[in-house]
Amino acid sequence: MSRIVYVNGDFVPEEEARISVFDRGFLMSDGIYEVTSVLGGKLVDFPGHAARLERSLNEIAMPMPMEAEALLDLHRDLVARNGIEDGLVYLQVTRGNPQDRDFAFPPEGTPQSVVLFTQSKPGLADGAAARDGISVISVPDIRWGRRDIKTVQLLAPSMAKMAAKAAGADDAWMVEDGAVTEGSSNNAYIVKDGRIVTRQLGSEILAGITRAAVLRFAREAQMTVEERAFTIEEAQEADEAFITSATSFVTPVVQVDGATVGSGQPGPVARRLREIYLEESRKAAL
Ligand code: PLP
Repeated sequence: MSRIVYVNGDFVPEEEARISVFDRGFLMSDGIYEVTSVLGGKLVDFPGHAARLERSLNEIAMPMPMEAEALLDLHRDLVARNGIEDGLVYLQVTRGNPQDRDFAFPPEGTPQSVVLFTQSKPGLADGAAARDGISVISVPDIRWGRRDIKTVQLLAPSMAKMAAKAAGADDAWMVEDGAVTEGSSNNAYIVKDGRIVTRQLGSEILAGITRAAVLRFAREAQMTVEERAFTIEEAQEADEAFITSATSFVTPVVQVDGATVGSGQPGPVARRLREIYLEESRKAAL
């Protein structure tokens, strides 16, 4: 069934959506995106995603295309038009169409391109990955130096996912200077002796909206959190490992580079955090 997508002010069937070949997003990866999950027809963590969108845009000298409130209305409208119960909403904002190819930014006032589309994912919160855990391999982190900005340049993570697939694994953790930065499209964690360890924020990783919520819930539940870099060897010797993202919530990792983590089953900390996160997020969803 054809989706209704939003393109620059219009809701249109996906086959009729049009973006210029000169769009900066297409020619230069000059754009920012956000992904918000939908559970029970409602948006999860929307204020966090809107705030990060504004920050990412600001870091590359682009304004917000509209107020956060208007963006929320747009998201809700699209969810309703597509009858999404469980799924995702993607929002892409690029520097628009300067009418020709040029490295220089287009003149001020050039309209941005704003696109929203949905993905329907029935049972998004009850997948096999959450039940059984996933396997990851390590790959070198070959991305640029501003990973705190959520840009549409996703070739390196795509290649990391393909390397994982070729190795028979579910995902890849990226490694730089001997330490894990993050997963290809998620934040990475280990648990050792009751302590939850995840890399500190900085330009090396994306500040996950799910990460922020999960760490808050962990601290509220009196769990100890250490924000520091860790190695693949530490992960292999950890009691548990897991990832977080808007698309996977909290998902256990049971194998790292072929080594079994802990018991090889999803651990109690990851399971508990997933439960808390889903329960709280459903309550606060908009
Ligand atoms: N890190 C990277 C590189 C990502 O691409 C993502 C999500 O797409 C995340 C972390 C998790 O961020 P969030 O929890 O906001 O989805």
